[in-house]
Amino acid sequence: MICKYCRKEVSNGVGPANGGIITEVLHDLPSSHIFKEAADDHDLDYHSGTTESDRMWADNMFLLRMNNAVHAKCSWYSKWWYFLQAKRNYWAVRKFGNKFFSYHGCRG
Ligand SMILES: [Zn+2]
Repeated sequence: MICKYCRKEVSNGVGPANGGIITEVLHDLPSSHIFKEAADDHDLDYHSGTTESDRMWADNMFLLRMNNAVHAKCSWYSKWWYFLQAKRNYWAVRKFGNKFFSYHGCRG
């Protein structure tokens, strides 16, 4: 994906080949395909920075997008499991995401 601020290519959020943030934080994410778009957007938000409140916003948007993905993509009997995954992912980026967040950012 291309960053809309600096026009640089930003690595995708999931998948072992590209080393996205979610892949770094969660080594084996069983539900990654469901949350791919949410993770990609989250990586972009982390790339563009810039402040701790931006990071909280990015994490909150991540949770919202994951929950929307569960509503859109999962069958009624598996939703509870994916909502748990979404909550775990959110907890993980809240707890460990600061290592990956760009506090310099690229929004000038
Ligand atoms: Zn950028």
